[in-house]
Amino acid sequence: MINRRNFIKSSALTVAGFYAGACVQKISTGKLFLLRYDTEWWGEQSEMEGFFEQVIKVHREDKIPASFFCTGLTINNRKEVFRDFYSEVKNDPLFDIQNHSYQHIGLCKKQGQGLSLEEISDDYQRAFELHQKVFGRFPDGISLCGTPGESYPYFDSSESTKREFHMLAGLGLKMVNTHLSGFDESSDFCTYERLGYPGIMGFPSAYSDTSWMQRREFGDPLVYIFREMDQRAGLNHHMPLMLHDWVSWQHAPDKELAFVRKIVEYARNKGYQLITHIDCYRNKAWWQG
Ligand SMILES: [Zn+2]
Repeated sequence: MINRRNFIKSSALTVAGFYAGACVQKISTGKLFLLRYDTEWWGEQSEMEGFFEQVIKVHREDKIPASFFCTGLTINNRKEVFRDFYSEVKNDPLFDIQNHSYQHIGLCKKQGQGLSLEEISDDYQRAFELHQKVFGRFPDGISLCGTPGESYPYFDSSESTKREFHMLAGLGLKMVNTHLSGFDESSDFCTYERLGYPGIMGFPSAYSDTSWMQRREFGDPLVYIFREMDQRAGLNHHMPLMLHDWVSWQHAPDKELAFVRKIVEYARNKGYQLITHIDCYRNKAWWQG
């Protein structure tokens, strides 16, 4: 790993140089369906018992690719469970294991949130090292979901947000949401060329199940998702689906993950291609242009 203190010192010296202002390109391909589980349950561990077993069963039976963005805290709380899960799926291209920070801290918070660059760096470094310890490899990507506090856009003039991104790049980051970047996060891929990183991919992110399944903000969850998919398919837009381990297991109508099978079947009938996030990254022609 890099030495954090030296890294921050050098980043402060170079940060002013990486705004080249180059345009960010968008992907041009068929319609992709990106299914992910932000895997972050923080409570009583017995409440998630059986989740990974059912995930493996459903995703293998229906050949459904999925990415799992895991918080370090959750991995640490159930090391053996995560080790077993990883050892079962590590050679299976349907499963893509990535990171979601250590303590679910997000990024780019307004001042007053109380997290310094050093604290954020500590959190992500701790998370990446835990992946190495438990899975034997560092993650390639992180996902950001709604976290408390107001956020800065990455592409604003704030030096602090640029330093946060630079810090993640220093940890080996290859992909993160098209989040607060000025593009449409719900449908666009991008590169982070404007921050000096044309090799880092931004991926679409939307439709958090905390909204449509846990809180049922739009009525029947499946009716809502099908309607949204009809609309997006008509526009030829990608369809990201942000699930959470705890919502899928504790707030779905059943513990069979039947809703996942139904949504995916609907997506396939609409012409969507299912793919993991890391496979999007590997298809560089799609997002680098
Ligand atoms: Zn989250």
